[in-house]
Amino acid sequence: MCLGLTADCTGLGIDEQGQLIQTRPAFGGNIMATIISPYTRPQTATVRPNVFMATEADPSRPVNIEEVPVTLTKANIRTRLIEEIRLESEDERIEEAKIIVSAGRGCQDPINLDMVRELARKLGGVLAGSRAIVELGWIPYSLQVGQSGTTVGPDLYIALGISGAVQHVVGMSSSKKIIAINKDPDAPIFKIADLGIVGDALVILPKLIDEVERIKLRR
Ligand SMILES: Cc1cc2nc3c(=O)[nH]c(=O)nc-3n(C[C@H](O)[C@H](O)[C@H](O)COP(=O)(O)OP(=O)(O)OC[C@H]3O[C@@H](n4cnc5c(N)ncnc54)[C@H](O)[C@@H]3O)c2cc1C
Repeated sequence: MCLGLTADCTGLGIDEQGQLIQTRPAFGGNIMATIISPYTRPQTATVRPNVFMATEADPSRPVNIEEVPVTLTKANIRTRLIEEIRLESEDERIEEAKIIVSAGRGCQDPINLDMVRELARKLGGVLAGSRAIVELGWIPYSLQVGQSGTTVGPDLYIALGISGAVQHVVGMSSSKKIIAINKDPDAPIFKIADLGIVGDALVILPKLIDEVERIKLRR
C-alpha cells in the first residue's frame, strides 16, 4: 500500500467531505500550496515546529498500540545519513527560543541591530527579523521569520519596525504574547499585537534596554 504524506505543513483543516486540507509553502516559500490526498487512507501529514502548540503529555490516556510487521532490506532504504552538522551560534535557534526580538526594515540601518541584539540578550532571548532585512543582508536567512523562513512560537515576540505583512505574520502569530513597535498607527502588525506602541523604534529601544537593566538590577 502507498500512502500520501504532506510534510512540513503550516496549516491543517478538514472540509465537508472529510478531506484533510494540508497547507504548506512550496517553491522556496513563494507560494502556499493546498494539498489533499483523495485516493488513499489514512491521510498523513507532518507540521512545522511551532505551528501548533504541543499539549502536555497525559500518560493516563488509553492508546491502542498496533504492531505492524515491516520487512525492509538495505536496498529499500534510499536515504543515507552522511554527516550531522550542528549550528553553533545562539542566534541560530529561533525555532526553540522563548523570547524573540525581531527587527524589520523600520530599524533603518544594520548598525541599529546592535541595540536590538542587546535587548534580546538582556531579556534572555534571540534576534530574528523579517525577510526585508534578510534581503538587505543585515541578518542571515536562518534568522528569517515567516512563510519562506522559520515558523516560531515563543512566549514573547517583540516586533520592531515590522509592518506585519501576511507572509511574516504566518510565521509568528502563534507566539503567546506579541509586542509591536511601529511608527505607523495603521501598520497591520498592530492587529495581532497584544501590546502596540506607536512610535519610533530607534527612540524607544534605548529606553527599553535601560528599563530592562534597571528592573534586573532591582531584583
Ligand atoms: C512569496 C513571498 C514570501 C515571503 N516570505 C516572507 C517571510 O518569510 N518573512 C517575511 O518577513 N516576509 C516575507 N515576505 C515579504 C513580506 O511580504 C514583506 O515584504 C516583509 O515582511 C516586509 O518586511 P518589513 O515589515 O521589515 O518591512 P516593511 O514592509 O518595509 O515595513 C517596515 C515597517 O517599519 C515601520 N517603520 C519605519 N521606520 C520606523 C521606525 N523608525 N520605528 C518604528 N517603525 C518604523 C514602517 O511603518 C513599516 O510598517 C514574503 C513575500 C512574498 C511575496
